[in-house]
Parts: sequence; C-alpha cells; structure tokens
Amino acid sequence: MDFKNRYTKEQEEFRQEVRSWLEENVPADLKRPLEVSHLDTETYKQIQELRRKLGRKGWLHPAYPKEYGGGGLSSEQETVIGEELDKQDIPNVHDNPLDLPALMVWGTEEQKMEILRPRLLGEKHGWQLFTESGAGSDLASLQTRAVRDGDEWVITGQKVFVGGDAGYADPSTKVPDDIQMGEMFTLAVTDPDAPRHRNMGYFMIPGDAPGITVETLDLLVGQGKRQVYLDNVRIPATRLIGGETQGWQVAQTTLEIEHGGGGDIVPRSRTFEKFMKYAREKGLDKDSHNEQVIMQAHIDNEILRLFSARNYWMYSAGQEMTFHGSQQSMWRRESGIRTSDAIREVAGLKAMLDFEDSAAPLDGEMEVHQRESLTAAHPGGTIEIQKVIIARRMGISRTRERAAPTPSTARQA
Ligand SMILES: Cc1cc2nc3c(=O)[nH]c(=O)nc-3n(C[C@H](O)[C@H](O)[C@H](O)COP(=O)(O)OP(=O)(O)OC[C@H]3O[C@@H](n4cnc5c(N)ncnc54)[C@H](O)[C@@H]3O)c2cc1C
Repeated sequence: MDFKNRYTKEQEEFRQEVRSWLEENVPADLKRPLEVSHLDTETYKQIQELRRKLGRKGWLHPAYPKEYGGGGLSSEQETVIGEELDKQDIPNVHDNPLDLPALMVWGTEEQKMEILRPRLLGEKHGWQLFTESGAGSDLASLQTRAVRDGDEWVITGQKVFVGGDAGYADPSTKVPDDIQMGEMFTLAVTDPDAPRHRNMGYFMIPGDAPGITVETLDLLVGQGKRQVYLDNVRIPATRLIGGETQGWQVAQTTLEIEHGGGGDIVPRSRTFEKFMKYAREKGLDKDSHNEQVIMQAHIDNEILRLFSARNYWMYSAGQEMTFHGSQQSMWRRESGIRTSDAIREVAGLKAMLDFEDSAAPLDGEMEVHQRESLTAAHPGGTIEIQKVIIARRMGISRTRERAAPTPSTARQA
C-alpha cells in the first residue's frame, strides 16, 4: 500500500471545486465547539443546514450510490472532500452513520429508497439503540422485545448511552428535535425460545413513533447521551431489516464498521498537534525528559494514523479484514489514554484547567482531552473486547470468527 495520498490532475481540479463550494456554503462564523454540549442553537441550525446542503450535493456520503442519495464518487474523491472539510475546522457534519452500511448490505430496494435515502441526504439523524443496562459488551443478552402483530411489530424495552453526538437542538433543555430522533436502529428479541444470536431482529424505529420517551444522561464528557424507553412502540413490519431472527448478523455489519473496519479518511489528533505547538512555544520540549514523553506520544499517534489509513485503504479496495478494524480501535483507545498522560506530564496541572479558567492552555482543550480519552475507551466495544475480537480473528481463541460483510466486501462478492 501507499502511505501517502497522491492525486491526479482531475482529482486536484475536483479539490478546487470542493474548496470553492465550501467557501460559498460554510458560514464564516461556524466554529467547532470545545465539546458537543457547548454547541448553541444557532450553531446547531447552521450545521443542520450545511449537512442538508452537502447531502443534496452528494458530498455527505460521497461513495454511496447516487440512486440512494449518495454521491456515486470514488474513494479518492471522498478523501478529497474529507480533507477539505477537515481544514474548515467546523463541528462534525455527520451524525451516527452506523446503520448505513447495514441498510446497504441487508436492506431491500424499498428500504433503501425509503429509509437509507433520507439518511444519506442528511435529512434525518441515526440513533443507535443497541446497549441496555445489562447488555453492553455482552450485547447478545439484550432484553428488549419485539412482538409481531399483523402488519406491525410492537417493541418494548430500555436502551442506554444512545444518540446525541450531534448536540442538542435546544441546549437549555437538552431536548433533541425530530431531525435528531429520525431513525433509531434497534436490536430486539423476536423469538425468546431461539438460541442466542439467532433470536433477534434489527429494526428501524421512526423517532416520532408514539411510546418513545427520552431522558438525557450527563456523562464525564459532554456528548449528550440518552436513555430511551420504548413502551409498546408500533412500527410497520417493513421496518425490519433482514429476517425476523437475523438481527445479530445484520448488526455485525454495523459493528464491523464501528470496530474500525472502515478506517479514517483524515486520521489525525487535533489536540495533540496543538499540544505539540504549545510545548514548543512554551519551551517545555527543551527538557530532555519531556522530549522523550512527547516523542513517545507522537509515535503512538503516528501509528494510529497509519492503522486508520491502512484500514480506509483496505475498505476502499474491497479487501476483507480480519483483526485490522479492532487493532485500530484498540490502539485509538489505548494511545488516547497514553497521550492524555503525556499531556499531563508535560503541561502539568494546567492540563486540568477547564475553559472557564482564564489560565487554561488552548482554551481548555487539554482538559477536555483528559476526560474524552477515558470515555472513549467504552463506546463500540471496550479495549478488552477489541482484544477478544482480535484473538478470535487470528484463531487464538476458543472460537474463530470472520469479518461481517460491509458495503465494500459485499460489492466485491
Ligand atoms: C460515550 C459513550 C457513547 C456510547 N454510545 C452508544 C450509542 O450511541 N449506542 C449504543 O447502543 N451504545 C452506546 N454506548 C455504550 C457502549 O457500547 C457500552 O458502554 C460498551 O459496549 C460497554 O458496555 P458496558 O458499559 O455495559 O460495560 P460492561 O460490558 O459491563 O463492561 C465493564 C467492563 O468489563 C470488561 N469486560 C466485559 N466483558 C469482558 C470480556 N469478555 N473480557 C474481558 N473484559 C470484559 C469491559 O471491557 C469493561 O471494562 C456508548 C458508551 C459511551 C461511554
């Protein structure tokens, strides 16, 4: 593989087109907040508008097919768009996109048009309703029930740590709006008598369906996660993705990407780059111990960048991964915590000052990193679970497993 992106003349011309479009369409005052919970209503609206514009242009999900609302573009063009968006330093334009690969691989033509298309166009957000209080790492023990009633499914249960990555429509009440609560991709038991892993379905619940209650959870990091209660929520039978007891299989496509199987288009740690600049400016790097600590963290971050780029390249080339996704995911989490330790060691207690303190370096960004690196060890499979997956994929475990299909590998097949 090639570790450096090289572009043709046509791709550089496309970059100019993207740059000009962004100059025209990204509001000049749109700035990335310190953390998602700091996003105010005005900024929230601006980012929704930009998301929809990108969607209509086909640049929100550039590599998905045009007929389903994607851009029908190449992975190189997707990379160019990702790089140019990254330079804008604006809030994340994406919501939780982890249902998209599953819809693409397992959805019927009708489901792709009705459910996938509005998601790719940026008209609705996705909320992932997988985790329950007794089913996190051991997701297969979930208890939420789905019962078939004529042409409908009736779903009852409780989900936790859900949604909210895109901020709050109204930060004062922390209440999400109907765009945010657009599609809830949910796992629920359809046959309680069937064996584990063959007893559940994968459902797309419309966020405005009666019987849904949402409560906000305040976490260590301001991500705006929620607890979602489903009380006899009725949805059309057409909102079951895959077979009635095939949900575990369908969910593996979602999890394959969540576990790092899609790689990263623009892999970098902004905070670490800013921290290195800060250390140089303050002369902290002149101390020989600090020099060692900073370089070790730099190597950690560089390895992460390479793992992420390798996975993106493998994904784009339609290669089936084995341990690669979880290797990147594990490294991201572990190196994130080590980087936080390094920042604290070099910057001292100032790294713990938050944005409200005028003495906080980088407007409090280091303090956010301290909290974020700890929280990031959990979502989408903890560090230990990534190691379990790596072992299974390498055949050094009790069980051996293969990668689930993704839009990339399904396309090749
Ligand atoms: C910020 C954040 C965002 C999240 N977003 C979402 C979301 O949008 N949607 C959603 O559905 N969920 C979400 N989650 C939930 C997340 O997926 C779970 O927290 C995660 O799967 C771990 O589950 P748990 O918290 O129940 O911990 P547990 O499963 O109870 O694990 C507790 C500890 O035991 C360890 N452990 C468990 N099993 C094993 C094993 N077999 N071997 C070794 N060690 C083990 C774990 O590594 C962990 O350290 C989010 C969580 C966080 C923190």
